[in-house]
Amino acid sequence: MTGRFETHSEDDTRALAARLAATLAPGAVLLLSGDLGAGKTAFVRGLAEGLGVDAGEVTSPTFTLVHEYRGGRLPLVHVDLYRLDSADLDEIGLDQDVAAEGVVAVEWPERLLRRVRGGLAVRIEDAGGDERRITIETTPLSGYSMR
Ligand code: ADP
Ligand code: MG
Repeated sequence: MTGRFETHSEDDTRALAARLAATLAPGAVLLLSGDLGAGKTAFVRGLAEGLGVDAGEVTSPTFTLVHEYRGGRLPLVHVDLYRLDSADLDEIGLDQDVAAEGVVAVEWPERLLRRVRGGLAVRIEDAGGDERRITIETTPLSGYSMR
């Protein structure tokens, strides 16, 4: 599911993410970019809902960079690199086996050290008030990568 979308509330954004989640296969990687407060974590909550994971558990990781949520159609791995200057996913505790069988959603993917292919780039822009412009597209070969 790719394209440009507009949402008018946090619930809208969650619903969009839940629809996207239904289309994802094991090994999917989502790169969520946007300013602080844009709605990246809200989007991850929607992914959780769409996968059937308890979304109430999804928060902005504080001390932990990686959170794994199980119990849904696919495991969800939430990575938030906000507090890092740069990161190598192999070194921050991302379990490659879980990554391969689940959905990995990365906030602040600009901070990844290495680039990989095959992810979905989700860009969220604040358009004022509760309006958000959300673009979902496949990343080019030069997109951020995990290995
Ligand atoms: P980020 O993870 O990008 O820093 P959060 O998801 O933590 O952002 O926070 C987004 C904030 O914006 C929340 O307080 C949420 O309620 C609010 N918000 C308002 N409108 C929207 C919208 N259309 N989509 C997502 N969040 C929205
Ligand atoms: Mg966040």
